[in-house]
Amino acid sequence: KELPADPITENYVRQVENACFSFITPTKTANPQIIHVSPEMLENLGLATSDAKTDEFKNVFTGNEILPDTQPYAMCYGGHQFGNWAGQLGDGRAINLTEIVHNKQRWAIQLKGSGKTPYSRTADGLAVLRSSIREYLCSEAMFHLGVPTTRALSLALSGDEVLRDVLYNGNPAYEKGAIVSRIAPSFLRFGNYQILAVRNDIETLKTLVDYTVKHFYPELGVPSKESYLQFFKKVAENSLEMVIHWQRVGFVHGVMNTDNMSILGLTIDYGPYGWLEGYDYGWTPNTTDSQHKRYRYGNQPNIVLWNLYQLANALFPLIEETAGLEKILADFGTNFESKYLNMMCSKIGLLTENESDQKLIQELENNLHLSETDMTIFFRNLSRFSKENPGQGITIIQDAFYGSIEQLPEITEAWNKWFDKYSIRLQLEKETDSERAEKMNTINPKYVLRNYMAQLAIDAADKGDYNLIDELFNLLKNPYSEQKDQKKWFAKRPEWARNKVGCSM
Ligand code: AMP
Ligand code: MG
Ligand code: MG
Repeated sequence: KELPADPITENYVRQVENACFSFITPTKTANPQIIHVSPEMLENLGLATSDAKTDEFKNVFTGNEILPDTQPYAMCYGGHQFGNWAGQLGDGRAINLTEIVHNKQRWAIQLKGSGKTPYSRTADGLAVLRSSIREYLCSEAMFHLGVPTTRALSLALSGDEVLRDVLYNGNPAYEKGAIVSRIAPSFLRFGNYQILAVRNDIETLKTLVDYTVKHFYPELGVPSKESYLQFFKKVAENSLEMVIHWQRVGFVHGVMNTDNMSILGLTIDYGPYGWLEGYDYGWTPNTTDSQHKRYRYGNQPNIVLWNLYQLANALFPLIEETAGLEKILADFGTNFESKYLNMMCSKIGLLTENESDQKLIQELENNLHLSETDMTIFFRNLSRFSKENPGQGITIIQDAFYGSIEQLPEITEAWNKWFDKYSIRLQLEKETDSERAEKMNTINPKYVLRNYMAQLAIDAADKGDYNLIDELFNLLKNPYSEQKDQKKWFAKRPEWARNKVGCSM
């Protein structure tokens, strides 16, 4: 087989055929400066806190120094963007430095924002500070919430200025450039397999699938049509698991294109993501998707399934029969129904099963849509409900309402009705109120990275103050705990932050 392109002679933007990746050297930066490091990830990689203070660390994790005996590379992938096949995309601003195995765990180390690659198309290969802070904080927060995700090791300034926008007066708006080192067992996406199938490069497709199974699904054994089918089944299960967690914590990814779907079922590529404040199936943080809202909260499970159809198409040449694939895709729907119901029941403290639960959850979700109701505060405060005292329900969840419902008797009525049913249903559970509360509080986070919180950290960092990054980073390590003096982050979105969401680029 042809070797991947030579990084010295062929380091230009192009279509990369017959290869899964291209070797590439990160671009050196003007004045690198590490501004935050994740202690948990240091430990996972076998590094000490003192290692993170060295010049070598700073240089390696900003792409200014290459580790001995390593060959950084960017991966080739394609993808469906907003439902349409977009051709070759690839790591346009991500570069894999190397992979290490520590404590039997494999980690790929990737820089995001360290310069052009053969996949940069018309863009610059760089990342700005605001989007880097958003990825850095959110990916670690998701991990601590128990959501499958890529991780982050460090956040750094490159010292370079990056142009993202031109102001109305025609002046260029420069922003601080930044580099996140992100870490995952693998960054392979659905799109890595799709591009090979679309190009009818079945030999490389097989090589890539065999590699993936060998390293990440080794229990499936030696390559065969059956093991490829089982591989697809595992990916479907892992993707389902991931999206159930998203629905549980109110995370909206925002750009669920097939190039942003991890083959390991990890949350990947934190761009214009957001967190539900008001519980709203129709909400999306992605302003470029505001018309069709393809990637809205309530549609995420459907989109995972849609994306799995695309992956099934890509794997078909290796499996060559449709029945097995179709069964897995059909099972996704039924498995989703039951897992979603279980998850929602656990959020309201129902641990046994009852045939009335589906309706109870449906009515709860209807009520949550009646007026703007903060998801995180609602479920957290619901744990204070006493099954002997349904009349107090409204008082307990009152803080979750963005507007007063006092003048809206039909809404009060709907909630009172629901609390009556809820208290009757709770009589069938054996837990006491406080036992139930304790369990609910391990499922309903108290602290999530609300959009305005990230924005405050970004504004401070832009002025050179990184304290809030550190404060939020530490807060979000224990999202389920009552944290002393942290009532300020267990609060509704302030009014100034309405409709203010982050940006992807
Ligand atoms: P995303 O929407 O962030 O998942 O990105 C879609 C594609 O655009 C991927 O191939 C990215 O690598 C590429 N891309 C996004 N931003 C940049 C950039 N600043 N420079 C080069 N490529 C980029
Ligand atoms: Mg992406
Ligand atoms: Mg992105």
